[in-house]
Amino acid sequence: MKKAMIVMLLSALAVAGCEKVPLTGRKQLILVPNNDMLAMSFTQYKQFLDTSRVVSTSSGDAEMVTRVGNRVRQAVEQYMNANGFSKRLEGFQWEYHLVQSGQVNAWCMPGGKIVVYSGILPYTQNEAGLATVMAHEVSHAIAEHGNERMSEGLVANGLLQAGQLATGIGTSARSPQTQALFQQAFGVVGPLAYQFGVGLPHSRRQESEADHLGLIFMSMAGYDPNEAITFWTRMAKAGGGKAPAEFMSDHPSDQRRISDLQKLLPEAQKFYSGSRRNS
Ligand SMILES: [Zn+2]
Repeated sequence: MKKAMIVMLLSALAVAGCEKVPLTGRKQLILVPNNDMLAMSFTQYKQFLDTSRVVSTSSGDAEMVTRVGNRVRQAVEQYMNANGFSKRLEGFQWEYHLVQSGQVNAWCMPGGKIVVYSGILPYTQNEAGLATVMAHEVSHAIAEHGNERMSEGLVANGLLQAGQLATGIGTSARSPQTQALFQQAFGVVGPLAYQFGVGLPHSRRQESEADHLGLIFMSMAGYDPNEAITFWTRMAKAGGGKAPAEFMSDHPSDQRRISDLQKLLPEAQKFYSGSRRNS
């Protein structure tokens, strides 16, 4: 498809499937029905767990992952329900698992399906560090970054017919092409070798947005937002200027990320104080 045509189609779609990201208010293109996103996500998540070394939920570290996950979840639900975004949480089936792996990584798929790799724990060091990571990943899901990437992919690949604009994308949502886009959008590689976070990197814009939302949500959950700065500084040092894994792909440079987070600290601090008053 010619570039001009894609631009035209994108602007038509921007009207048809335009949504606003919570907190930042950024407009985004969301075309894949939520039900389809969740169905694909739940299937992939289960397959991933079935073929991974999941740490027993009774271990101390796994308990910590669940505890932090629940606190972030409560903060997210409270905010979303109070601010007219409850539709984005429809069908969520939150789940948190710690997986034995050297990878310095974590992710959250649509519907609140979270995995933390044990390899990131030496970097998170404490609950607030882990909350930084988990709130960042949950924010990608809440902001529907995967759906946005797929939607842009559908358009760029010319997989949408004009008629589908009027009716939503309908039956094409579970077509092989759409499934392939899902796998691409979430970095699922190979039939069994699931490697999340190594496919298409999130765009810089999506990363900054997940940082922003993540900082606010961790604060609402009662974690000191200053710990996010400490965590990212630690990651920057460990990576020799470049942080590893999901935290490396196309993330804003560490210095830029840290200074962006510092600018958001006063806003986050208010939510943090609020959460402490309420507890
Ligand atoms: Zn990210």
